[in-house]
Amino acid sequence: MHDIIIRNADIIDGTGKSAYQADVAVDGGQISDVGDLSRNGGRHVIEAEGHAVTPGFIDMHSHADFSLPIWPTADSMLHQGITTAVVGQCGLSPAPLPDKTREETVAVLNGFFGERIKAMPWNEWSSVGDYLKFLTRQGVSINVLPLVGQGVIRASVMGLGEGRADLDQMATMKNQVAGAMAQGAIGLSTGLIYPPGSFTATEELIELTRAVASKNGYYFSHIRGEGDTLLDAVAEAIRIGRETRTSVQISHFKAAPKDNWDKSSHALQLIGEAQAEGLDVTADLYPYRAGSTTLATMLPHWAHVGGPGETMKRLADPAARAKMIADMQTGGFARGFEWNMVLITSSPPRTAYEGRYVSDLAAQAGKKPYVWVFDALLETALDMTMAVFGMSEENRRREIQFPSMMICTDGFGLTATGPMAKGVPHPRNYGAFPRVLGRYVRDLQVLKLEEAVFKMTGLPAKKLRLKGRGVIRPGFAADLVVFDPATVSDRATYDNPHQYAAGISHVLVNGRFVIQDENHTKKKPGIVLKPLH
Ligand SMILES: [Zn+2]
Repeated sequence: MHDIIIRNADIIDGTGKSAYQADVAVDGGQISDVGDLSRNGGRHVIEAEGHAVTPGFIDMHSHADFSLPIWPTADSMLHQGITTAVVGQCGLSPAPLPDKTREETVAVLNGFFGERIKAMPWNEWSSVGDYLKFLTRQGVSINVLPLVGQGVIRASVMGLGEGRADLDQMATMKNQVAGAMAQGAIGLSTGLIYPPGSFTATEELIELTRAVASKNGYYFSHIRGEGDTLLDAVAEAIRIGRETRTSVQISHFKAAPKDNWDKSSHALQLIGEAQAEGLDVTADLYPYRAGSTTLATMLPHWAHVGGPGETMKRLADPAARAKMIADMQTGGFARGFEWNMVLITSSPPRTAYEGRYVSDLAAQAGKKPYVWVFDALLETALDMTMAVFGMSEENRRREIQFPSMMICTDGFGLTATGPMAKGVPHPRNYGAFPRVLGRYVRDLQVLKLEEAVFKMTGLPAKKLRLKGRGVIRPGFAADLVVFDPATVSDRATYDNPHQYAAGISHVLVNGRFVIQDENHTKKKPGIVLKPLH
């Protein structure tokens, strides 16, 4: 008698190999048998004829480390079949918080994530190890792989200013990274368009990455620009991998706005060449044409020097405003985007702005768009996020097909109702994985189902050296998804994002049902994972 039997399923085993019909048995958290199990009984039997059974999906880029302490059931992730998430991304992790600079670092993180993380129990941890112990003690519904954020480390040692680290500061930062690695971090992340990552020289990043290289760790990067500077930014990430011999992941790959679309295939070519050179450089994306980040990211880098307080002073200063406008028109994140492509996705102090485009909001207020943006950032103390429509659909299809492209949400663990259903966040939070399976596999036939599943399971599991995960095979962890390939789809939209995916009926994490008959069981069988050395 098995714990669970899934009968007559189309097994898509996560290796890329063709689907085949079989039964899967689960016992004690593991896949115990795969084959014709018609003579075996199960305490729990799922009749899965016509349904696919795959390994649980691995989200290569998640900010759920800022939602799990508040909402450990990560509903929006589980409902799309995600059973493991790599967190601590874009240079931002909830630890370490050294005593001396704790308040400043928490202020930086609150400044970035805003109202959404108001309920974070910051006092529960200081180190990465304590943070992970907190998650384990509280319980979580998904498995977690944590990175430590370069931005947080630099902010805690050097504040939010520009400038190079001196020898002492460098040693302190390397110590912090090494400490985080010893306590369970799998590598370092950077966010090189956000302060203080944006103030950090490549040489400093190389030196810091050496502290993860010696532990066989990873370098994950939100690179130094996904528009005008895309090719240099990809080259920088590759250089860091080459000089430190570290495995590199280029996060949420994209090329925007329109006059940079032709850079996408060249950037992929650079990644391909790095692989041919023997470097482990891969990438991930979310399958949408809009990106999303804080509205303040539109401002030039210099406007962020010194932290949010200084940014606010500059926003109030007419001379600084004039210089910002000039710089935003000629370079940086804002160049090339029209204001009717910028949608406000959250603005807790002024919720009336949410779900509306900057062009409309500015027209209604009788202001020029730049002036409206500066005024709104002042009114909300920078607590606003946006979605920006700037990617090419044709590129998206080619990028998804790129052999070493994996999938991510770049999201949080949210809920369709209740406290985590606020604002109008980017639909990727709810729909990234089912959108690949529905839109790009079934509707557009950009990928075969087996290829898409490989990109979500076996490929990232191999990259992350996850022992016994990412493939359906006896002895492997029973992280499993049961879905209907004919109906699986994302339902979240830009207007109405808080909607779970359709067609995903069951999700198991470590052999336990987290989604059962499309309902979250509120079980918390997730664990903190470690790569094999
Ligand atoms: Zn990012």
